[in-house]
Amino acid sequence: MDLWLGVEIHACLIKRGFVLDLYLNSALINFYGSCWGIESANQAFDEMPDTEDPLWNEIIMANLRNERWMEALELFRDMNMSGGKVYGGTIVKVLQTCVKMGALNEGKQIHGFVLRCGLEFNLSICNSLISMYSKNYRLELARIVFESMRDRNLSSWNSIISGYAGLGCLNDARNLFHEMEVSGVRPDIVTWNCLLSGHSLHGSYKEVLNILQRMQGVGLRLNSGSITSVIKAVIKLGFINMGKEIHGYVIRNVLDNDVYVGTSLLDMYVKNNCLTNARVVFNNMKNRNIFAWNSLISGYSYKGLFEDAEKLLSQMKKEGIKPDLVTWNCLVSGYSMWGCSKEALAVIHRIKSFGLTPNVVSWTALISGCSQNESYRDSFEFFIQMLEEGIKPNSATISSLLRTCAGLSLLQKGEEIHCLSVKDGFTEDVYVCTALIDMYSKSGKLKNAHKVFKKIQNKTLASWNCMIMGFAIYGFGREVISLFDEMCGVGVQPDSITFTAILSGCKNAGLVDEGWKYFDGMSMYYNIIPTIEHYSCMVDLLGRAGYLDEARDFIRNMPLKPDATIWGALLGSCKIHNNIEYAEFAVKKLFELEPHNSANYVLMMNLYAISNRWEDVKRVKDLMGVLGVKNLQVWSWIQIDCKIHFFSAEGKPHPDAGEIYFELYNLVSEMKKLGYVPDISCVYQNIDEVEKDKVLLSHTEKLAITYGLMKMKSSTPIRVIKNTRMCTDCHTAAKYMSLVRNHEIIIKDGIRFHHFRGGKCSCNDCW
Ligand SMILES: [Zn+2]
Ligand SMILES: [Zn+2]
Repeated sequence: MDLWLGVEIHACLIKRGFVLDLYLNSALINFYGSCWGIESANQAFDEMPDTEDPLWNEIIMANLRNERWMEALELFRDMNMSGGKVYGGTIVKVLQTCVKMGALNEGKQIHGFVLRCGLEFNLSICNSLISMYSKNYRLELARIVFESMRDRNLSSWNSIISGYAGLGCLNDARNLFHEMEVSGVRPDIVTWNCLLSGHSLHGSYKEVLNILQRMQGVGLRLNSGSITSVIKAVIKLGFINMGKEIHGYVIRNVLDNDVYVGTSLLDMYVKNNCLTNARVVFNNMKNRNIFAWNSLISGYSYKGLFEDAEKLLSQMKKEGIKPDLVTWNCLVSGYSMWGCSKEALAVIHRIKSFGLTPNVVSWTALISGCSQNESYRDSFEFFIQMLEEGIKPNSATISSLLRTCAGLSLLQKGEEIHCLSVKDGFTEDVYVCTALIDMYSKSGKLKNAHKVFKKIQNKTLASWNCMIMGFAIYGFGREVISLFDEMCGVGVQPDSITFTAILSGCKNAGLVDEGWKYFDGMSMYYNIIPTIEHYSCMVDLLGRAGYLDEARDFIRNMPLKPDATIWGALLGSCKIHNNIEYAEFAVKKLFELEPHNSANYVLMMNLYAISNRWEDVKRVKDLMGVLGVKNLQVWSWIQIDCKIHFFSAEGKPHPDAGEIYFELYNLVSEMKKLGYVPDISCVYQNIDEVEKDKVLLSHTEKLAITYGLMKMKSSTPIRVIKNTRMCTDCHTAAKYMSLVRNHEIIIKDGIRFHHFRGGKCSCNDCW
């Protein structure tokens, strides 16, 4: 079309005084709209002396075609005011605009107009109204329109079913589908796909497969839309064999040219760890979009195959596809997950050199990777760096940081992050809350954990599990049980983790009967098959309570092959009850299963030492030497103000060691007056008793507690973290210390929490 020729003709018509009729004006609007831009068309329309109905409709459509949604809606309003008659087709288009704009109020006004003009039985208008309401999340209004329709065609049914399925009202969607069949309208592929995608989008994956079966039963051919929904479900279910069948179907029906199908298949293989198949799909794809590239790069990167990932990245650049933040973040995540935080940080710098800004996802990947790999210090440093770059944390960042605090039992840091999450409004986020519960219970502040838990509005299974575990590690068996009952009462179904938590609770509280009840009940009433973890809890429970024979029979009869945790639990119980015979039996298995775990050797030497069997102590010690088993580094630490004080058995002594020992000697003599007798059986070196007393005094947790008593106000509880099981003597000493100095002491050892108050411990001497 010649741009100027059109204008010349228009000018010529005006000059000659030609009366422009409807058709000419309509043609003019069309011409200006498509050649000169919508402004010129609107101007031409404004200059027309009388605006008849077709012109109104024409100008509204022209604005819609040019994506001038607001102008179109305004013109529609003006036309109504001036009494113009609107066409059905225009209303449909305007309603579609309301969907695009999320303009519910405008949509309602148009609905009112439809009713006023008596157009409420116009099929396509009604169908558009249904779509408009359901896409604006107002299913009840959509339903009213649907129910009031005199006739319904296929597209009416599709609109309403798509509305319900899209918003996750899956039962309603299925009922409507059934009604549709009964009413004699045959569902087409669009209807079926609505059902598929709704179920796949809202987590009803097994139902997707049922629907698929029914589709095949009625002989329907799947299209690319159906395939992508089905593959999504297959990915979530991990049914890789079924996925391969679908892949076959795709090839047989030549659907593999569709870029979405290709990308879904690729994603399926990547997420199910079939990188070779993924590569084949990728290589065969004709059009690869950025999703395809990112999917495969993430696959390599999460598997730690960084060379392949980097190669793909440069190939991608060569083919002219620019990596986006998602691409880079895949690499950051991969490197961080595999403990290569240096490389991950380097990728962050590379992102910047490509002119992009690393976002909260990039930084959180780095932070959470460090936390998972127990590089806790790094994870805080990266957090500070992130804040310095002006990136605001999100709930995932906060959760990873809290996990870091929980891992280190860093209460103060954890409290700071709690404040931060209050400030940034994350306290509603159930993931953050669950991480807070974990942090508080692992840092010895169970009360705060419970406070956070009670405030959660929609408690997830994970948050229940976390709270139950919190009570369990403190040995509050009754609370564990009542919390479990409460959880079942509100209709949350327990899983295998819940039962690990309950059994740990029973174990730490010595509730043998209850333990049996839950162990037997889990498979009987909840259909959960006990795993090795549950068996190990039971062995521990029976053994600690002194039922060593029962524990051994239990191991003999269990259907799973006992692993190191089972024998370790038995050995630990033998230590409590001084049973050398069973201990030797357990440790023999342990030496086979984990020959390099020094804790087993130490426990056994301990047991021999108690019975003065020094020959045997030496034998075990020699065995360690021959096998090259290194003694585990033993350390304790305490945080005073902002500083962490570290006490280790082998390393450098604490700078204030002299004062600490002086205070400890004083303390012990005070304690002895109240009846404290050092338990020299905890020393497995064959030395004289005075020397043994000295060795006992040097245990790291005693030093850490003493330092706390010296430096902290008596109103602040002392919190000490120790990496290995505390010995009986330190346990007794801590009880006396809490009594003599009237100071609460909380110790987290390698096994559990001990809360000492007024000469008693929360564990009831059973750990
Ligand atoms: Zn000790
Ligand atoms: Zn204790």
